[in-house]
Amino acid sequence: MFKNIPVIAIEEHYWDRELFSKITGQEGIRGDALLNRLYDLGDLRLKEMDEAGVDMQVLSLGAPGSQKLKADIAVDIAKGANDRLAEAVARHPKRFAGFACLPTEVPEAAARELERAVKHLGFKGAMIHGMTNGIFHDDERFWCIYEMAEKLDVPIYFHPSFPNKDVSALYYDKYAPDFPQVVRAAWGYTVETATQAIRLILSRLFEKHPNFKVILGHFGETLPFQLWRIDQALRRPGAAPMDFRGTFCKNFYITTSGHFSTPALIASMMEMGMDHIMFAIDWPFVPNKPGMDWLQTLQISNEDMTKMLSGNSKRLLKL
Ligand code: MN
Repeated sequence: MFKNIPVIAIEEHYWDRELFSKITGQEGIRGDALLNRLYDLGDLRLKEMDEAGVDMQVLSLGAPGSQKLKADIAVDIAKGANDRLAEAVARHPKRFAGFACLPTEVPEAAARELERAVKHLGFKGAMIHGMTNGIFHDDERFWCIYEMAEKLDVPIYFHPSFPNKDVSALYYDKYAPDFPQVVRAAWGYTVETATQAIRLILSRLFEKHPNFKVILGHFGETLPFQLWRIDQALRRPGAAPMDFRGTFCKNFYITTSGHFSTPALIASMMEMGMDHIMFAIDWPFVPNKPGMDWLQTLQISNEDMTKMLSGNSKRLLKL
């Protein structure tokens, strides 16, 4: 059906063995079917892409990425992971591209690693997962990374990770035994990542770096649906001036990862326009086929479909 439109999926994950050997806690524990796919950067991955009709994956680590490493090892581990991903991309340059992982535990080194990854390894941006050891990324210590991203004209993809322990205890623990995903994809990830995005805007980061671009997965973690109310409420009497909706629609891009909902797409199109919505699946946490099957049901113009499937990501990521 999409004969002349390349399909580029941009939130597709893998795991780096050395990096994940340093991760303790629940995020390091996955079943065999997922592990086989996360560690595959060749035949199995390509076979499932071919079966579904995915032409290219932009690869990134799965959560928690490089955000839960000890500061004394983070820089070397992240560099090694990026070098290995660059080699995997070089083996299949028409099928894979990469987002770098950054040692955010050492922000200045993370900015330098972003520069190296983009200029020397050919990465298209970077992905940051959840918080860095409990600190949200609007903190000014991280702004040197965004300054570098703006200078290089590459986006940073803010991806979920496990919620903070205290938040989890208060919000989710009662229901987690019966509904383990309430902590994760069903709700916990959304709350944490939307909060991260809101904090980035409230920090006035985008006033200092007006061309810094952010990508959010999962249809913007509910924010397109909430934009009007957030914007209106922030403007009520007594508040500092803030153009929340304008900033979000200008500096943020969203993807369809793991969220194949036509109503969510329509709401996002109406708030953000079609130039800021990109296709993603979230493989292997979500299989390729449901994402591709959903595309077949969409009644949108060929022009809009082209933008979403690859036109926007080609432009934003310079693919
Ligand atoms: Mn994901």
